[in-house]
Amino acid sequence: MIFPKRDFPIFSSHPSLSYLDSAATTQKPIVVIDTLNTFYREYNAQVYRGIYELAEQATERYEKARSSVAKFCGVTDEEIIFTKGATESINLVASSWATKLSAGDEIIISELEHHANILPWLRLEKERGIVVKYIPLSKEGTLNYEAYKSMLTPQTKLVAITHTSNVLGTRVDLSLVISAAKEQGASVLVDATQAAGREHLKLGQLGADFVAFSGHKMLGPTGIGILYMRRSIQEEVAPYQLGGGMVNSVGFHDYEPTEPPIKYEAGTPPIAQAIGLDAAIQYLNGISFEELKKHEAKLCKRLIEGLKHLPSIEILGPLDQLAQSGHLVSFVSSKAHAHDIAAFVDRENICVRAGHHCAQPLHTSLGIDASVRASFYGYTQEEDIDRLIEVLGQFEKSF
Ligand code: PMP
Repeated sequence: MIFPKRDFPIFSSHPSLSYLDSAATTQKPIVVIDTLNTFYREYNAQVYRGIYELAEQATERYEKARSSVAKFCGVTDEEIIFTKGATESINLVASSWATKLSAGDEIIISELEHHANILPWLRLEKERGIVVKYIPLSKEGTLNYEAYKSMLTPQTKLVAITHTSNVLGTRVDLSLVISAAKEQGASVLVDATQAAGREHLKLGQLGADFVAFSGHKMLGPTGIGILYMRRSIQEEVAPYQLGGGMVNSVGFHDYEPTEPPIKYEAGTPPIAQAIGLDAAIQYLNGISFEELKKHEAKLCKRLIEGLKHLPSIEILGPLDQLAQSGHLVSFVSSKAHAHDIAAFVDRENICVRAGHHCAQPLHTSLGIDASVRASFYGYTQEEDIDRLIEVLGQFEKSF
C-alpha cells in the first residue's frame, strides 16, 4: 500500500469498505480535510479584493496553490487556470478558443473519450458546422494510430485526446498524437483527468496547448479543476466568462480584461478547493509515483488473473498494458447486467462502478451498453481485490 489507510478517515468510518471506484473520485486524506476546515475556521475571506490581512492571507494561499500545481506539472503559474473541474476546463476551450473556428474546420477526438471531451465538440458540430472525427479503436483496445495519421488534413484545427481511458485504462501514445497534430499545424488538448494523480505530467515538455484535469481524482476536494493553457496560445483565447475580478477597467460600454490566468477566472474562484488541492499535492509530493504505478499494476494483474477463472466474465481493454501500468480493470458478464453485479457486490461493502462511465460511444464501439469497472489508488489493498473476486465467484455460482 502506498498511502497508509490510517491517513484516510473514511476507512475508519467504514472498516469493511473495499472502495474500488477511485477513477470516479478518490478518497481524501486527513490533511486535505483539515486544510479545508482550517481555511473556513481561520482565514476565510475573498481573494484579490480585500485590503485587510485576512484577505491577503487567503489570496496568498490561493496563489500558493496555483504555484504548487504549476510546479507539480513543470510549467509557469500564469499557465494554470483554476476551474470547477475537468469538464469546465474543456468547455472553457470550446467556448473561447474555438470561437475562431469556421464551418468545415475539423476536430479530431477518439472513440476512447469521456463525454466531457465529446459533447463540447459535438455542440460546435451541431451549431457551427465544425466536423468532428473519431480515431477508431484497435481490436486490442488501444487506438488505431495509422487511421489517425490519415485523418489529419489541413482543415484539422484541434486534436482533443484522452491521456488514459477511464473505461479501458488504455494509455494513449501522446507523443505520436501530438507530434503528428503539430506537423499539420493543429492545436492539441489533452484530457489528463485519469493520469494527473499518478505521474508528474511534465506539461512543458508534452507539447500540448491545453491540458485539463480535476482535483477530486487526485486526493483533492470536489469543485476544483485545472486547465493548463500554454503561454503562447493565450493571446488567441478570449475570456471564457465575464464579471468581477477578470478586468482591469470597465467603462459604460467597454472593458479591458486583465492578464492570464485571472483573465479566465471571472467571479469568486474556488478558493477553499484550491487550497485543499494544494494540501493534496503536498501529500502526493511525499510518495513515489514509480511505486504507485507498480502497486496499481500489480492490483490490475491480480484482478485479471482472478477474473480469468470466472467463465462468464470477459475482461475489456489492453490486458498487457494494464498489467504493466494500469489503474483499473473493466469487464462484462454473459450472465448478468453490470448494474446487477455492482448491486450484488455492494451487499459486501465493495464499491465498483457500473454503466457506461460517461463513455457511451466507446461502449457502442465495443458492442455493449454497460460494463463493470474496478479502479484503484494508493490505498487499495490486495485484500480488496481478493474480496471482489470471491464475491464475484459467489455471484457466478448463484446462476
Ligand atoms: N475525463 C475523464 C477521462 C474522466 O474520467 C472524467 C471524470 N469521470 C472527466 C473527464 C470529467 O471530470 P469531472 O467530472 O471532474 O469534470
